[in-house]
Amino acid sequence: MRIITRTTPSVDTENWQNTLATAFRHSDDLLAYLELPQNNPMAHQQAAKSFPLLVPKPFADLMEKGNANDPLLRQVMTHPEETRHIEGFVTDPLDEQQSNVQPGIIHKYQGRVLLIAATGCAVNCRYCFRRHFAYQDNQIGRKHWQDALSYVRNDRTIHEVILSGGDPLLLNDHLLSDLLDHIESIPHIKRVRIHTRLPVVIPARLTSALVTRLGQSPLQCSMVLHVNHANELSQELQQGLQQLHQQGIILLNQSVLLRGINDQLIHLSELSELLFEFRVIPYYLHLLDPVQGAHHFHVEEQEAIALHRQLLANLPGYLVPKLVREVPGKANKSPIDLDL
Ligand SMILES: *Cc1c(COP(=O)(O)O)cnc(C)c1O
Ligand code: SF4
Repeated sequence: MRIITRTTPSVDTENWQNTLATAFRHSDDLLAYLELPQNNPMAHQQAAKSFPLLVPKPFADLMEKGNANDPLLRQVMTHPEETRHIEGFVTDPLDEQQSNVQPGIIHKYQGRVLLIAATGCAVNCRYCFRRHFAYQDNQIGRKHWQDALSYVRNDRTIHEVILSGGDPLLLNDHLLSDLLDHIESIPHIKRVRIHTRLPVVIPARLTSALVTRLGQSPLQCSMVLHVNHANELSQELQQGLQQLHQQGIILLNQSVLLRGINDQLIHLSELSELLFEFRVIPYYLHLLDPVQGAHHFHVEEQEAIALHRQLLANLPGYLVPKLVREVPGKANKSPIDLDL
C-alpha cells in the first residue's frame, strides 16, 4: 500500500480558491500535463458539452503520468461512451425532483434532510448521478437560507441537516460559519453532516478556520468523504483529517463501485485499510445509479455481491462498507446482499 507524496508541491496549496480557479477545464490540457496523447478530441469535447471537465491540479498530481488507465484519471476524464444513449440509463435515476420539497431542500428520509448548500463541485466525476440535476432551480444562496431552513424549523421530526450539493465546502469559511449559525439555532437539530469530496481533490480546503469552527459547533458533527480508490488518499489529506479527528469530528467515507476503477477485492480492501489509517470509517459502497452517460462504469449486481462477500471474508467487519443502492421512493438506501 502506498501513500503518495507529491514531488513538487503545488504553487497554491495555501489558497484553495486559487487552486480551484486554476483547475484543468479542458481534456487536452489535462492529457498534456499527464504526458498522454490526444485521442479523439471531438468525442471528448462532445462529452464535455453536457457536463464539463473539471479537475484540480492536486488531484491530477496523484495520477500516474503516462497511464491512460490510471484509476483517478478514469473517474474524471471525459469519455466518448458518455454521449451514447443506453436503455435504462436516465437523467434523473433517483427521481429526486419529487423529494425536492422546496428550493435547496431534499427531504426523502425520516429525521434528516439534505440541504443543497452549493450547486457546483470542485471536480466533475463522470459517473455522478447529479450530472443532470436541476441545479438552476436550487441555487438558493445566502439570501434564501432562511426560507430553506424555515422548512426544517417547522418540522420537529428533523434532527439532522446534511450539507450537500454539489459540494458544500465550495462555500468559503465565512459563509459556511454563517450557515452553521442558522442551523445551530434550530432547537430540534442535534446533528450536522457534511458530504464532501473537496478535501480529497484539494486537501488545502481543510483550513484551520474550518476545522476550528466545526470543532466549536454545539451540534454532533460528521463529515462524509467520497473516496473511491486508495491512490486518492494523500499525505496532505491525512494531515487535515487528523486535525478534524482531533476536534472530535466523526469521519466516514462513501464510495461508488466503478468498473475498471475499484471493482477488484484488492482495490476495496486497500481503500478500507488506508481509510482507517486516516481515521475514516468506510460507510457506504454504492452501486452506480443508472445515470445517462455513465453506463461504461456499471458493475453487475451479482458481481458486486460477490465482491462484498470477499471483503467480508477478508476484513474486520468495521472496515466493510454497506453495499447499497438507491431505489426511488424507498425510505432509506437499500442494502443489497442481506441474506448471507
Ligand atoms: C443519502 C441521502 C441521505 C442520507 O442517508 P443516510 O442513510 O442517513 O446516510 C439523506 N437524504 C437524501 C436525500 C439522501 O440521498
Ligand atoms: S464531487 Fe460528488 S456531487 Fe460532485 S461531481 Fe463528484 S460525485 Fe458528483
